Amino acid sequence: MGQTGTVTSPESQTPARVGRVRPAVDALPAYKPGKAAEQAEREHNIAEAIKLASNENPYPPPTAVVEAVAAACRDGNLYCDHRATAVREALADRLDLAVEQVTVGAGSVALLYQLATAYMDPGDEAVTPWISFEAYPISVQTMGGTLVKVPLTAGHAFDLDSVAAAVTERTKLVFLATPNNPTGTAVSTAAVARLAESIPGDVVVLVDEAYREFADPALGDPVVDLLAHFDNVAVARTFSKAYGLASLRLGYVMAHPEIVSAIDKCLIPFNVNGLAQAAALAALGDDGAAAEAQANIDAIKVERGRVAGALAADGWDIPDSQANFVWMHLGARTDDVCIALEQRGVVVRPFSGVGIRVTIGTPAQNDRFLTTLAEVAHPA
Ligand SMILES: *Cc1c(COP(=O)(O)O)cnc(C)c1O
Repeated sequence: MGQTGTVTSPESQTPARVGRVRPAVDALPAYKPGKAAEQAEREHNIAEAIKLASNENPYPPPTAVVEAVAAACRDGNLYCDHRATAVREALADRLDLAVEQVTVGAGSVALLYQLATAYMDPGDEAVTPWISFEAYPISVQTMGGTLVKVPLTAGHAFDLDSVAAAVTERTKLVFLATPNNPTGTAVSTAAVARLAESIPGDVVVLVDEAYREFADPALGDPVVDLLAHFDNVAVARTFSKAYGLASLRLGYVMAHPEIVSAIDKCLIPFNVNGLAQAAALAALGDDGAAAEAQANIDAIKVERGRVAGALAADGWDIPDSQANFVWMHLGARTDDVCIALEQRGVVVRPFSGVGIRVTIGTPAQNDRFLTTLAEVAHPA
């Protein structure tokens, strides 16, 4: 162990200090992933818990993707293409963009962090409607920046006029998750265009479409509707949710080439690994992956309608979800309801004191959630 002289005893309550960690990092909250079913089983001494806490696709990846990843394992001894060039080209082709307008990351979360790294200096600000994705504050605060949180409307929707009003000369980024995590509410490309028109052109607006595939197409396509008109609008998407590739880590951003190259400068070497690249190429290829993914998306949307309908019939007031989850605004009851569900083997995602987010799973999982909820809680 070497020298241990600086390690303090537990009684002294003074934390050990090894190295001089940046204050911004020291103050960071840890990202809280959804609790694993196995962990809930251990904590509550129960069996057969289900996890509806991480917005995962309940179905395995498309067959062509599984086969491509298995085959790519054989090249595991070799470094992959750092820039994932073939994936960029396939995406650019699919989206009808120039390859310079597309970048790929180890999940779209990695791209958010790269964006914050590229644009935020200490003292800079980013603006987002709130409550929203919990990776936004962490990515911004890591850089010593501040995330300005603009409250949602009473209907849990975005108030984009207030977002525009919160933009100052210190603002570098605006994060807009649409559909929003955790509320499931979404904004149209027309509304995002009005926002983009009303703020300075040197503020980058990230439209985070992690749940795009579950949303109403009538909301518009920001890649088609916005990129050509606003150089400062970037769009993030991911294979994690709709394609069921969460564990493989693959996201992408479409933006002006200058934004893409700034994001690329902050790419950790080989972060988009070879298995993820093989998965992406198969997902975008001609071997039926898109059709398989679409069938799963359709099934999830049908179940979302059924779960939302059942909750409404029981008297719960839940916002219209455009994503693969539903949001229950429970306020002060949140933590109690969450624990009660968990003790009965249904793991959902609490936002302490605000509400719970429940991922749409298989029909059997959703039935289990609905029955268990009816046992533990009733509308106020
Ligand atoms: C799940 C999610 C992401 C992306 O996840 P990755 O797995 O990193 O691609 C991004 N934004 C939001 C709002 C999400 O909920």
